[in-house]
Amino acid sequence: MESCILLVDDEVRVLSALKRVLQRAGFEVATALSVTEALDYLQTNNVSVIITDFRMPQMSGADLLRQVKKDWPDIISLVLSGYTDFELVVELLNQGLAVKFLQKPWNETELVKSVVHAQKTYSMRVAKIERDQFLLGSLTALIEIRGDGIISRFNAPAQSLFPELTLCLNKPLESLDPAQHKDTFSAFLKNKSDRLFITSVSKETKKQREFIIERCWSDDFCHLLKLSDNLRIHSEMFKINGFDELLINEAEFYQQLNTLEDKHCDYTVIFIGIAKFDLIEDLLDFQHGEALTELLAKMLHTTFGSDVRICHKYSDHFMFYVPSGFDDCFLLSQFNKLVNLFTKALPKSYERFSIELYGVYGFFPEDRLSAKELVNHLGLNMNYLAKNQQHFFSRYDAELVNDYREKFELSRLLFKAIENNEFSLYFQPKIDIKTNKVSGAEVLIRWYETTKFGWVSPALFIPIAECDGQIIAISRYVITQSFKQLKRWHTQNIETGKLAINLSARQIKDDPSWIDFMLNCLKENGISSSDIQFELTETYLMEDMEQCQRQIDRLRSLGFEVQIDDFGVGYSSLAYLSKLSIDGVKLDKALITGLESSLEMQSMIRNIVRMSHDLNLKVIAEGVETTHEYNLVKKLGCDYIQGYYFSKPLNEKDFCDYIYNQNNAVSK
Ligand code: C2E
Ligand code: CA
Ligand code: CA
Repeated sequence: MESCILLVDDEVRVLSALKRVLQRAGFEVATALSVTEALDYLQTNNVSVIITDFRMPQMSGADLLRQVKKDWPDIISLVLSGYTDFELVVELLNQGLAVKFLQKPWNETELVKSVVHAQKTYSMRVAKIERDQFLLGSLTALIEIRGDGIISRFNAPAQSLFPELTLCLNKPLESLDPAQHKDTFSAFLKNKSDRLFITSVSKETKKQREFIIERCWSDDFCHLLKLSDNLRIHSEMFKINGFDELLINEAEFYQQLNTLEDKHCDYTVIFIGIAKFDLIEDLLDFQHGEALTELLAKMLHTTFGSDVRICHKYSDHFMFYVPSGFDDCFLLSQFNKLVNLFTKALPKSYERFSIELYGVYGFFPEDRLSAKELVNHLGLNMNYLAKNQQHFFSRYDAELVNDYREKFELSRLLFKAIENNEFSLYFQPKIDIKTNKVSGAEVLIRWYETTKFGWVSPALFIPIAECDGQIIAISRYVITQSFKQLKRWHTQNIETGKLAINLSARQIKDDPSWIDFMLNCLKENGISSSDIQFELTETYLMEDMEQCQRQIDRLRSLGFEVQIDDFGVGYSSLAYLSKLSIDGVKLDKALITGLESSLEMQSMIRNIVRMSHDLNLKVIAEGVETTHEYNLVKKLGCDYIQGYYFSKPLNEKDFCDYIYNQNNAVSK
């Protein structure tokens, strides 16, 4: 439940004025006209900050704060009162009952600032309490690090596993293994890698040991890292005391399914998962994982009958089968029954994890898959649900599996694409609205996959390449080929204007030398930086504003132009336009499509244009398809246009013809 700010004052007028100010600043606000009313509210609601008047009839602000300190010690209290009460309030501050005195009449800015600060302090407190519980209560070795990577605490199991930890307190994580390359640590800290392998030589035994460090809990302030010996094997985890007969291993499971198949019996395979299972196991120890599985096994037994044999497939995934005769409706009702039983039986200590069950199922022979295939497909579906935190129960989605397969296949084929010469570049003209002439072009990659798929859209393969890392090679390919092309055009005296190249997030993050590579290419082809623009999407920017801005600054200082691509669909905050140093924004097609029928969109574009021009930024409208859109975009003040209205992306020859015709034609 969201926590809120509770305002306590006996004057209605004060309460409503205060409430207005804080709500405007985005806070959730509740009010109480007396101490009794406030205490009642606190009994049943989640409050992070209290702002109370000092003087009130019957019970005073001091009485309230004393009670709060006793019953809700995490709440942050502020006192808002007249200056005459200052001396008395100081007393409260000294006793630690309140953290700040705000004077009436209040200054709005100061008030909001104080509340922001108080709420942050509250979040820090609550987060720390939660971490304390994990650190002290867990038998798993845990290390706490701050956001900047400094080791702030660790628990006893961590110290006994890795005694050298004591020397690393208040030092960067790197100090755990100084011989290791720094980049490995920074990649881990920046969330680029999930695991860290460190080695250490034991002072006592002189033996080298290897450890695994994994992130297992993060809040806004700190991370808890799980430390484990690289040798540790979890295989013995899933023995359920006294319930051995409920469990079978995977080989037995398939054997039983094959027997059913041989007898031409239909069956349903069901996968059930416990959301956040890994986390619970890591933070609360294996025993808790075991307890949960035991509970689940018992409940499955109660729900689906005593014949059910459960097989632990992987992590939180459990599979079992039931004989046919269960349709979707019946299965769903059984699942609901299972969830009810499971939730009711769950010990209170698990409450804050909001444990959920989820699952998928498939039918044999209806789904036309063999036992093994069915299990594999269900497993893929479970991974998808877990990854996307979709915790529900449904029949397995064959399309999702096909999608996975197709992506997997494309990823494999992409590896050969450069070598096999399957990529080519297309160019889409950008038109200067004042002259209707070509001012440049966006470079768009094309892939013709020769064995099976034919033309594959970049909208499909670029995200795959981002995911599997091939985008780095692809981006370098686009740079090399674009620059070579530009050089050829220059020698043929073809005036194309600036070429715009799309940058990818991964390239910026994981290919630190891409700019040097690009500069080399530039030099080799005798091109000037003023011939090149880069397009960077808004979403990438927001992910790591600092790193992006550093690269943008470097590019611009070298003379390249940088534009924000797909502007207006993601965060689209006009406010940050002024914070960035860039050359232009490219309005996304989504803003342009249907523009004629949306007055709000028109006014939004007018504002973006006005603000951009004030900041000396150019505005380009993308995806302009109709005369109507063209006229509107022109009227709203955009500087450049790109879209099918003028031209689709063209291959090299068609692009040259286009320039020739356009520049020799009378204005359109
Ligand atoms: P994008 O950068 O937003 O590129 C614009 C996309 O809109 C292109 O699709 C273009 O063909 C299409 N488009 C342009 N005008 C119109 C129009 O009037 N109507 C419609 N319906 N569409 C229009 P494309 O070429 O399929 O590229 C899709 C996305 O793939 C690009 O979106 C970009 O994010 C990515 N991409 C393409 N080439 C590269 C590349 O070389 N490097 C990287 N990193 N990404 C690329
Ligand atoms: Ca683009
Ligand atoms: Ca775009």
